[in-house]
Amino acid sequence: MKRSILNLLFVVFIFVTLFPWSGHETMTYYMIQDLPNIDKKVLITEYSYEEERQYNLEYLSLTDVAGKREFFSPNGDGVFPPDPPPVDNSLPVWQILTIYSPEPDNGMDEGLDLSPLQGLIGNSQGVRHMRYKIGFLKAFEGDKSFLYFVELSKQAFEKNDEYWGYRFLARALHYIEDLSQPYHNAPGSFFEMIGAAFSKNMSGKLNNAHYLMDDYLVYLLYYSDNAAKEIILGAEPIFFDSYEDYVQEIMNYSHSKFSLIHSEIKAQFGESLNDYVTIEQIRKMDEEGKLSKLKGETLSILSYSSSIIKGFLIDFLESVGQI
Ligand SMILES: [Zn+2]
Repeated sequence: MKRSILNLLFVVFIFVTLFPWSGHETMTYYMIQDLPNIDKKVLITEYSYEEERQYNLEYLSLTDVAGKREFFSPNGDGVFPPDPPPVDNSLPVWQILTIYSPEPDNGMDEGLDLSPLQGLIGNSQGVRHMRYKIGFLKAFEGDKSFLYFVELSKQAFEKNDEYWGYRFLARALHYIEDLSQPYHNAPGSFFEMIGAAFSKNMSGKLNNAHYLMDDYLVYLLYYSDNAAKEIILGAEPIFFDSYEDYVQEIMNYSHSKFSLIHSEIKAQFGESLNDYVTIEQIRKMDEEGKLSKLKGETLSILSYSSSIIKGFLIDFLESVGQI
């Protein structure tokens, strides 16, 4: 009895805390390891910005939460990145980038009125975290979210506010990482989308496929072998001409992988997609050897995305004089 309650709690916990393309903290932590200045200490400063964006103020956090693991899971199992409390009111660069990269999933973009199309995806958070390309149609603003925080970060560095420079940069990383998830670029095939407009069952299936892909990355980062970690650590930076080009390249690549990933998820999980698929189910399928194709494709997305994000970070941090 006790065990089944614990299992249920575990499932609820995973669902509530890990539902977005998650593992941002760990993904970011691995991506920044080669930056030359990650141990530099940065003084914590107060927020002092006029912003164009509206947020859900109930969830927007503007104080420092280092050492409290507020933005990522408190499992404390040694797999998650470290999060020590500040020393002399300062934090190293790596810690600011790591702990604040999951922040935008904490509710600051929820409950807002951002787009007439947001009803289709259920909430305003998706509007800022996704960018659908369906034929010639484009919807939502994940790419703009990335560029918005790149600009804010630049402004902060220009006024020598390094703390907010890195904290805004962590948010920018969140959105570009989100766009590396194929389901942040399209919800399903064209005909499935038509179907989803008329059938709750179809829209439920597409949602569950999206969550599954989110959780699959979590599985690869936290509960599987070291392949995802090694791929991210080993990715070589690549460079583009503009910040728009970096985010466009991530979207193009991830979108180009959508059909393959989506077909493979449907082929392997089939009817299971009528419900939310748990990490435990994913683990079982993996142990049965059914996810090797999905793993190969996901690792290739992770590898190329890491190369792009590493290139962007070097480019950006050089331009603001940090490296
Ligand atoms: Zn997100």
